Amino acid sequence: MGRTQQFDFDFIVIGSGFGGSVSAHRLTEKGYRVAVMEMGRRWTPDNLPRTSWSIHRWFWRPKLGLRGFFNMRLFRHATILHGCAVGGGSITYASTLLPPPQKVWDSSSWTGLADWKAEMPQHFETASRMLGVTENKILGPADHLLKKAAESVGCGHTFYCTKVGIFQPPDAKPGQTFPDPFFGGEGPPRTTCIACGGCMMGCRYNAKNTLDLGYLYLAEKHGAQVFPETKVVDVRPMNGANDGGAGYEVSTVKSTAWIRRQPRRFTCRGVVFSASSLGTMELLFRLNEKGSLPAISRRLGKHVRTNSESLIGARMPGWHEDLSQGIAIGSGIYIDENTHIEAVRYPRGSDAMGFLTTILTNGRPGSQRIALWLKNVVASLMRHPFKTVRVLQPWGWAREFVILLCMQALEGEIQMRWQRPWFWPFKKCLVSRGKKVPTYIPKANEFAQKFAQLTGGFPMSMLPEILFDVPGTAHCIGGCVIADSPDHGVVDSRHRVFGYKNMYICDGSVVAANLGVNPSLTITALAERAMSFIPPAAEATWLDAASDSAHVTVTGAAPLAGSQRSNPAYSPRSHK
Ligand SMILES: Cc1cc2nc3c(=O)[nH]c(=O)nc-3n(C[C@H](O)[C@H](O)[C@H](O)COP(=O)(O)OP(=O)(O)OC[C@H]3O[C@@H](n4cnc5c(N)ncnc54)[C@H](O)[C@@H]3O)c2cc1C
Ligand code: SF4
Repeated sequence: MGRTQQFDFDFIVIGSGFGGSVSAHRLTEKGYRVAVMEMGRRWTPDNLPRTSWSIHRWFWRPKLGLRGFFNMRLFRHATILHGCAVGGGSITYASTLLPPPQKVWDSSSWTGLADWKAEMPQHFETASRMLGVTENKILGPADHLLKKAAESVGCGHTFYCTKVGIFQPPDAKPGQTFPDPFFGGEGPPRTTCIACGGCMMGCRYNAKNTLDLGYLYLAEKHGAQVFPETKVVDVRPMNGANDGGAGYEVSTVKSTAWIRRQPRRFTCRGVVFSASSLGTMELLFRLNEKGSLPAISRRLGKHVRTNSESLIGARMPGWHEDLSQGIAIGSGIYIDENTHIEAVRYPRGSDAMGFLTTILTNGRPGSQRIALWLKNVVASLMRHPFKTVRVLQPWGWAREFVILLCMQALEGEIQMRWQRPWFWPFKKCLVSRGKKVPTYIPKANEFAQKFAQLTGGFPMSMLPEILFDVPGTAHCIGGCVIADSPDHGVVDSRHRVFGYKNMYICDGSVVAANLGVNPSLTITALAERAMSFIPPAAEATWLDAASDSAHVTVTGAAPLAGSQRSNPAYSPRSHK
């Protein structure tokens, strides 16, 4: 059985981020008819905001008229930052692409389900090549300061230049345009990085390797149809087959419309959920509740991880260099085996985040810390009134501020549930539960203090972390984790959803361990692996269902059957 013409598409991919773009490209390459439903807008260098003051083009909150690509969701346990655009989080991400330490495969529910350490390197290699990963060659003033501070606390030897998906060919001038350097001429022309520090505001110079210039570009070129501003609101099995074996009906509305939401219905044989950890959990909870997908595992929403992050930093009023220069995350250090710090920046003029930073405050979270913070602010105002006012107001923030992003590869997780929150009992929504994620990492604060001392600046914390004891994270992962059975997770080791046929999840929600590094490369590599098991369209039997397998400890790579034996990631049309 090959193509199924009675369906609108063979596969519908929900979300066009890392997992979604890989899926769309690989499925199209295998001959499937693919649609990608994406809630966010399409962005080009011409419509991207110049600075973060252009709130309506930066923030995503369509009901308030904000139609940007960056979203911030507040939960009791974390403020979750994520992207929302054609190209998913790649439009707003800082393009740091690091592989996780090998130990992540030895913990959590995915351990033993595949020989991850043997299988994953080839997929990381493919992901790195497709995302154009290179070692950052542009160190800005903030990176040099990070190095100096690391040396002063005895960990200078751990300083490294980040691996990034930014076009930085050797011996080329900034702003130089070249024909497609990544996909043998099949991709779009690219321009070299000018080190403006603007990666997280969207690259207006065609230098960041966003998905719409890579995986998704190729998918569209080979026939995938991308539907921007299209939010999926329902996915139902069709034709009386409750397990989805006879296809699915996918309902959408226009995400940016208030009224006239243009409801549409599409049919397909298979579905790939790639709406991000938060987006996929939210959609699956909703569909489970309304009875569309009642067989989803009860483990949905469990094992959500925040990468144990804390944002701190230092502001140096009147610093002689422009600290916004460089790339968004140019370098990093390890202050101990588990604690990783990166130097982060926003482009000049993008000072709106300055409203969220305040004088660094240590201490046990809660009222004590708030009191200590007030005391610190008053003491600072008395000692250096002008300087204190200057560091607390946002103007000039990006030019004078180095954000220190601290991540820890330590175990720690929360849960998401579908409940009525106490403050709004009229409607169910995602709420977080579980043990608090620490907002105060003493070693990280000590480092910020040292950093500020070296430069004569002010060590800074994030205001919401102090006031509400809620950490911020841009790296929410998990919630639909890989496991051996529906008793422990939502998908099997090939990302097939337990309880349904031809249904997959390829995004950050399947990640089953705290990675301790930025997760996009891992999400991409896992999606490459998941897609490598799907046979070419001509050989599809449409019977693919999750194996509720026993815990198999494998010593070699997982045995592949028939058509799956040759890894399609390396098929003739794949881009090496
Ligand atoms: C400011 C910032 C900086 C970051 N920097 C880095 C970095 O340097 N390195 C790194 O590795 N990671 C970084 N991240 C994190 C990274 O962006 C995410 O981990 C990554 O994008 C997750 O990939 P994904 O495939 O799970 O989903 P995403 O890339 O988030 O894509 C999911 C897509 O699904 C869409 N969607 C959701 N629900 C629906 C629906 N119902 N219907 C249709 N579409 C839907 C969303 O609009 C979104 O576009 C950063 C994140 C932020 C916010
Ligand atoms: S530093 Fe500027 S030019 Fe370079 S990738 Fe980031 S936004 Fe683009």
